[in-house]
Formats: sequence, C-alpha cells, structure tokens
Amino acid sequence: MHDPAAEPGWTAAPPTLDEEQRLNELYRLDILDTPPEERFDRLTRLVAQWLDVPICLISLVDARRQWFKSVVGLNTRETPRAHSICAHALHERELLLVEDTHADPRFAGNPLVRGEPHIRFYAGAVLRGVNGLPVGTFCVIAHEPRRLTELQRSQLLTIARVTETLLAQQEQMQNLQRHVHHFAYADPVTGVANRRWFYKRAISVLGQPGTPPQLCVWLEVDRNEELALGAGPKAARALLRSIARRMQNALPEGTLLARWELAEFALLVPLASATQIESVLDDLLRVFDAPVVVGEQRFQASARMGVSVFPLDEQVPDEVLRKAWETCRTIAPADHARVRRYSPEVRARFTERFDLLQRLREDLAAGALQLAIQPKVSLATGAVVGGEVLCRWHSPVLGPVSPAVFVPLAEEHGLIDQLGGFVLERTLRQLAEWQAAGLTPVRLAVNLSSHQLRDLALPRQVQSLLEGHGVDPGWLGLEVTESAFIEEPERATHVMQALRARQVELALDDFGTGYSSLSYLQQLPLDLLKLDASLVRGIAERPRDAALVRNVITLAHDLGLSVVAEGVEEPAQRDVLCRLRCDQLQGFLFARPCPPAEFASRWLRGDEVSAG
Ligand code: C2E
Ligand code: CA
Ligand code: CA
Repeated sequence: MHDPAAEPGWTAAPPTLDEEQRLNELYRLDILDTPPEERFDRLTRLVAQWLDVPICLISLVDARRQWFKSVVGLNTRETPRAHSICAHALHERELLLVEDTHADPRFAGNPLVRGEPHIRFYAGAVLRGVNGLPVGTFCVIAHEPRRLTELQRSQLLTIARVTETLLAQQEQMQNLQRHVHHFAYADPVTGVANRRWFYKRAISVLGQPGTPPQLCVWLEVDRNEELALGAGPKAARALLRSIARRMQNALPEGTLLARWELAEFALLVPLASATQIESVLDDLLRVFDAPVVVGEQRFQASARMGVSVFPLDEQVPDEVLRKAWETCRTIAPADHARVRRYSPEVRARFTERFDLLQRLREDLAAGALQLAIQPKVSLATGAVVGGEVLCRWHSPVLGPVSPAVFVPLAEEHGLIDQLGGFVLERTLRQLAEWQAAGLTPVRLAVNLSSHQLRDLALPRQVQSLLEGHGVDPGWLGLEVTESAFIEEPERATHVMQALRARQVELALDDFGTGYSSLSYLQQLPLDLLKLDASLVRGIAERPRDAALVRNVITLAHDLGLSVVAEGVEEPAQRDVLCRLRCDQLQGFLFARPCPPAEFASRWLRGDEVSAG
C-alpha cells in the first residue's frame, strides 16, 4: 500500500487568502448537502455532451471536502479537499486548465489521478459568490490529455457565469425563505419563537426515537394584563421581551422557547439527568428575581409554572404540553407555590376547577347567585348600623360553594367585574325595594375586588346604578383591600377619590393581613378601617395583641377613621374591643350573614317607627 500524501508528485491546494470569508460566502448559499436539482444538472449534461468529456461537475469547495451540486460521470458526491484539483482552481482568476495531469508535478501523483476516476485532463472555471469570492468550479474532466480551443474556453466561462446566476438565485430564495420563516414562526412581541414553531418543533423532537427526557414548562407571567391596563401596552410588551431574553440566557442549549399568547410561554428543555429538573426550575425562578426596568419604572414580575416531564409524566408528545398547561392552571395567582409538577391529583383538581368555572359562568349569566348580609353593630348603642354584603353561590349541581373558592376563581378568569357588577346591582335594587316597602335601610357595604378598583369607569358605573335605582349614595359603602394599591397605587387612588366625591363610604378591608402599611391610611380617601379577624382572635388572651389593636385604633381615630372589628365570636373579645374604643363590631357573636329578607325582618325598622 502506498501513502499518497508521502508520494512525490502531488500537493494539496493551500487555503485561499481570504479563506474564512470565502467559506462564509459558500455557506450563505445554503446549498451544501442539498439534493440534486434539474436546473444545475441540465448544465452539466449539456457541457459534457458539448465538449465530449466523460465527467462534468459543479464542485463546491468546503473547508475539508469538495462537494458536488451536480455530477455527470461520477458515483460520488464528495471527495476530500486535500485531493481536490478544484481547490487549486480557487487560486486562479478565471480558469485552471491542466491539459495533462501526468505532466504536472502538482497533480501527477494525486490519488484521483493515479486511481479512480483517473483524471488526466482537467478544466475548471471558477465560480464566485455575489461578493466575488471563489466558492468552487464548474469543471470538466477527461481520461486522456486534451486541449481546449479558445471558443471552448469562453463557452466554459459563460456556463460558469450562468451557474453563478443560478447560485445567486439559490441564495435569494434561501433569504426569502428565511424571511417567510421569520414571519411565520417568530413572535413579534418578544423576538422568540411563536406557538406554531414551538408546536411543530416540539412534536418532532418528542417524536424522535431515543430523544432524551424533556422538561416541559408552561409559564404564565402574573398580572401582565393589568400592567397593560395600568402602565400601558408598551410597558407590558417591554416586560415580556425582557423576561423572554432573560429566559433565553438562563436556559440550557437546545431549549425550545416560545411565547404562546398574552403572557404565556412554553418551554421544552432537554434533560441530561433527573437532578437537572430542580436546577432548571431554579434558574427559571431566578429570572424573576431582579425587577424589570421599563423606561423609568421598575416592575417586580413574577410567574406561575406548570411542569411535566417527558416521558415520565406523559409519553404522548401532544399531551406533555397539555399537562404542563393544566398544571399551571391549577396555580391561583395568589398561591404561594409558583411551580407545580404534574400529578394525577393535579389533573383531578384541574378538571374540578374547570367544571366549577363553567358552572359559575353559567349561573352568573343567569343571575342565579344570591346575597347574604351580615350586620355591623355599633359598640356605643348596640344597634345595627350597617351591613356587609357577601356573595353566595348555591350551585344546583355542586351545592353551596364558598366565596373563598369562587371569588378568586372569578378574579383569575376575568369574571370578577361581572360578579362585582351583579352584587352591586342587586344591593342597590335591595335598598330601593326596602325604601319602597317603607323600611329605613342601613348602609350596605359591598366588597370590591382589586381589579374593579383599578377600573376608571367604576365611579361612573356606581353613580348610574345609584341614580337608576333612586338610592341615596349615603346608603352605599364599598370595601377595598390593599392589594389594589400595592399594584397600582395612583390608579386605585384616583378611582377611590372619584367614588368618595360621590359620597360613597369607603372602608379598607382585612387590615392586619398582607402589608398593612400605615402610610396608606394617611394617603387614601377612607372613612373606615376594618380590622381583620386574625387581629381580633387573640385579643382577649394575649395582651400583646390587644396592645397592637389599641395602637391601630388610636392611629385610625387620629386620622379621622372609624374602626370596625371583624370576626368577633366571643363576648370576651367584644369586651376588650369595647375598652379599646372600637366603633363597630361584626361577627358570629351578633349574627351570621343571612338572606336579605331575614336581615330586613330582624334588623330594619319601618319609617313610621323611626318617625315616631
Ligand atoms: P371578607 O370581605 O373579609 O368577608 C368576611 C368574611 O368573614 C365572610 O366570609 C364572613 O362570612 C366571614 N365572617 C363573618 N363573621 C365571622 C366570624 O365571626 N367568624 C368567622 N370565622 N368568619 C366570619 P365569606 O362570606 O365566606 O366571604 C369570604 C371572602 O370572599 C370575603 O372576605 C370577601 O373577600 C370575598 N367576597 C365575598 N363576597 C364577595 C363579593 O361580592 N365581591 C368580592 N369581590 N369579594 C367577595
Ligand atoms: Ca369585606
Ligand atoms: Ca374582611
């Protein structure tokens, strides 16, 4: 056996001077390893016939090989670059002509000359890319020495120009395709892929035999819709873009990431080991650590993530994503757990919630929810001075459902405005009915969700309901929680001021839970402070609790606010609250929430009585 490289009588072509750019130009054509195409083959067949040569090639010289886009007379599509005569041609201006390889020290010993395909005669016209750098040749080969006439040379060069045009077309087409691809598969908001691309790719990745385990994450950014309402859609988009970019940087190579719609992202992360699950999820959570700066504002974004693992949790590609999605749906916006892994229990819970939501939607549309009213008692007089309206849902199918369940569900699924509107309308209708029946009502307080409180149209809606039912605004109260102010202080304050201007009484609910920043009390237009039941609970046993409540009550009074204690169940609690100069009490000790008719018969007086 002989070693061709050691053989005297042949040399490999050196790289061109601008080899790197040259290769870039070649790769931009995106042509290597594509199937044969008739438009190129037609040219090689024509030239082979024309010049009466057995072999004709369109050869593209890659870093380590030459690859043939079109071949006449050879059984191979590529040979090593070291053996390539075309690689020598790249150093020519127009044409490399070797009339007899045996007479040329560069080629005499070349394996392609000594062995198959026994090149004796070679003529290669240089092919250049659009930037003028050589990418290959259009070449003819014969098994015996030959000459080319002047005419044949110029014909070969002409064919080379035609080939270059075809190659340029190829590049344009590729560009066009890339554009089309970009438009079809990129998400214009974040620049990451869109759902179509993700779906296509995910199905193909998961469908491949022997594909590694994959972590599938459905991620939903919290409250982005509200951000869009508050800070504007531009800020909301900027936030998503920044989060998408952070995720891209945080995730391992090979991750598929796409924005699905609104503030939802889908991810598919290849797993090297099961232990990687934790670290990937940690990295994802860390994306939300630092606030996102949009313009001059800073937003603390957060997200919920539903997780399923292929093939552990699910083997059907389609279903993996669905399970991650379902799991994410079971995490309520207020839930502390931000990441949840799929499990059969989660699935059952999802189905249950979905069912619940459907029924709530139907019953709400049918106006089939009810009100319950719980009295508020004056500590000074012992009289009922007001009532809190609480929504009740007795589903014909599911039975009674607690507001602690259906109110957050309505909030999460965009039903809360409808629910709030329903309660408000029914409350005003009730007040009007009592008045028409000759009863003196008490002020009824309706709970507002934080979403409603950020609705700039709310004050007008309240006013038109008051007017529509002919009810004096003094009979209506609204209870709001801090959360609205945490998320969008200015907007919520604005809405409250507009409500206050209409003489509606405003109460801050659940004080003592959450942030309970006393600074709100000064800034907000409030009439009433409601102490949460958790503050009241230990008040009779623990002096420290009592001292805290005393301070809150004193401060509230200093600010001109009245104080209502919630959840009063024991006489001992009542006595302490009395000593601490609390103004009103509400709780099971006095009455449970009851239907409006019962409330009226137990607590309301007729006009005549009050007049007399
Ligand atoms: P909330 O506004 O703090 O309402 C007071 C809750 O405490 C009511 O629960 C009431 O039944 C309960 N409660 C009253 N006295 C006592 C007591 O002495 N002991 C105990 N353990 N509980 C007492 P409910 O009716 O289940 O409502 C729960 C929450 O659902 C409400 O908390 C409120 O946040 C929400 N909610 C109810 N109705 C509506 C509504 O129409 N709109 C909105 N946005 N939220 C509502
Ligand atoms: Ca309340
Ligand atoms: Ca409350």
